[in-house]
This record gives sequence, structure tokens and C-alpha cells, in this order.
Amino acid sequence: MIDTHAHLNVEEFNNDLDATIARAKEHQINHIIVIGMDKKSNQRALEIAEKYEFVYASVGVHPGYVDHEDTEHIINLLKHPKVVAIGECGLDFYWTKENIDQQKEFFLKQIELAVETKYPLIIHTRNSFAEAYEMIKPFKGKVNGVFHCFSSTIEDAKKAIDLGFYIGIDGPVTYKKAFDTVELVKNIDLKHILIETDSPYLAPVPFRGKRNEPSYVRFVAEKIAEIKNISLDEVIHQTSLNAKMLFNIGGNL
Ligand SMILES: [Zn+2]
Repeated sequence: MIDTHAHLNVEEFNNDLDATIARAKEHQINHIIVIGMDKKSNQRALEIAEKYEFVYASVGVHPGYVDHEDTEHIINLLKHPKVVAIGECGLDFYWTKENIDQQKEFFLKQIELAVETKYPLIIHTRNSFAEAYEMIKPFKGKVNGVFHCFSSTIEDAKKAIDLGFYIGIDGPVTYKKAFDTVELVKNIDLKHILIETDSPYLAPVPFRGKRNEPSYVRFVAEKIAEIKNISLDEVIHQTSLNAKMLFNIGGNL
């Protein structure tokens, strides 16, 4: 299994990062991608990726951090051999709508950077899928990536897939009231799905409400197998293949 979205670079993991990584290995997590959100967490993501051979990093500016950040620093970090993607970036209109122009400016710069460098984009959207989609559409065929922690409709997921993007599925699919996400998983082909944790946030059942960590990505894979009525092995095989192709990691299967 590959956890394609973990924030091991935040303070929640300061005291037991080694043990957390060891647990991931014990539970057959072959790779982890640590996701940056601003200058400080981008730097920390790279430090972690340097320390652990099977861990990679993504660098970018999250829409929640655009007020005090720049995108220029990302350009340098992209030269690092363990960087596999740009993000997370995107639009978040749930958190605030007061800086929409600034959010769009940062997102566009990171889309252009992805087009230029061929790195995939890790995209965060919240109440903002339509706007994010419109911004990427002009670059169709020149950029790919994942709509991480997808929370929009089946129709929107199909639009994202048509742009060449993957759909990221996380812990919330295991929650009792996750009817929409369950329907979503039922209606899209496994070859378009990535599994993620978004650690330390959004822990799956049976750890809901606790700190999330990469070893829990198996609960997301198990739930997808249950929803699609297929074997866990098939989910693991296909989602790992998807992640390896998108992020160009791990050599051949
Ligand atoms: Zn995230």
C-alpha cells in the first residue's frame, strides 16, 4: 500500500516519528508521500524524505497559507531528488472567501509550475471544485495529479478524471454517514483512485477522532474493497500501481 497523502511534517509527529514510520512498514506500507503546505512544512517534508528511503515529499503552498507565503521558494525545492509532486495547492472557500483572488493567484502559479516541470499536482478543494476545475481545464493534457480527499459529486469526479486526474479517498469513507463517498467509490473505476490518510487528520474507523497515521491507510483500502465487492489484494495492487505511475516512484511493480 502507498499512503499518498500524509503530513508527517507537522508537530503532532515530533515525538514519535521513528515509531510511526516503523508501524507503517510493519503494516506493509511500501511508500509514503509527505505533503508540504508552506515554506516551513515543505522544508520539513524534505528532511523526512531524506531520512527514510521509502518516503517521498511534495512541496507547495496550501490555500490556507497564501497570506504569508510565496511560490518562488518552491522552484528551488523542486530540484530535490525526493520531490515527486507540487502541492498541496488549490482553493478553499469553506475556510474563507475573503482572499479568493489571492488563492487563485497562488493556485495558478502552481499549475503553471506543474506544466513547466511535469510534476503532478496534489490539489485541495473545499466548496471550490467548480472554480478549481475551470482553472485547470485550459491546461488539459499538459498537467495531471490528484484531487485529494475528494468531497464533491460523482459528476464532478468524472470531470476530474476526464482532465486526467485521480480521485483521492481518505478515512471519511469509513464514517457512518459517508453515503456520498460510498456512492462515489461505487461509481468510479479503481484505476482512477488513490488511497490516502491525510494524517494526522481524518482518522478512519476504528480510530476516528484520534491522531491519524500512515499505517491506517489499510482501513481505507479495506472499505473500498467492501464497497466494490472485490478483494483487498486487488485494491492494493491497483491503487499502488496508480500511485507509482502518477508519482513515478518505486520502480516496477
Ligand atoms: Zn493535506
